Amino acid sequence: MRPLFQSPGLMTMHCPFCSAEDTKVIDSRLVAEGDQVRRRRECLSCHERFTTFEVAELVMPRIIKQNGTREPFDENKLRAGLLRALEKRPVSIEAIESAINHIKHFLQATGEREVKSLLVGEKVMEQLQKLDEVAYVRFASVYRRFKDLNEFRKEIDRLEQQPEN
Ligand SMILES: [Zn+2]
Repeated sequence: MRPLFQSPGLMTMHCPFCSAEDTKVIDSRLVAEGDQVRRRRECLSCHERFTTFEVAELVMPRIIKQNGTREPFDENKLRAGLLRALEKRPVSIEAIESAINHIKHFLQATGEREVKSLLVGEKVMEQLQKLDEVAYVRFASVYRRFKDLNEFRKEIDRLEQQPEN
């Protein structure tokens, strides 16, 4: 029998044989290292048995660009942006991957189907600021497009006044 994939939001499970709404779960177990729940169900109407797999939905939201177009979240693009800002900086690849995971987790946790690219940019800046101040300023100067040089200067001054770690 072919397994059926059930959307996690679906509250009632129709019997695939007779479409009756009343089915009972006769067995539940975790599969795929705990990422899926496999359920055996029996239709209360025709008594056929079938299997469903439930998977928690953690999708990356789509990105709304500043011109209003949408594009899929691109992890490689995010990584490339971080690596560019962190070029020749003393930051380990593990720390960069951890920052990427932080950003992805944050985006998934919003539960939104679409988020503004600005939000992603702010999150990247937040992570870069923790990783490396120079990379942060590099990224911010491009990303935020400081309105004028004074604003940029102010940010540099602010960073220079912070104690070195
Ligand atoms: Zn049935």
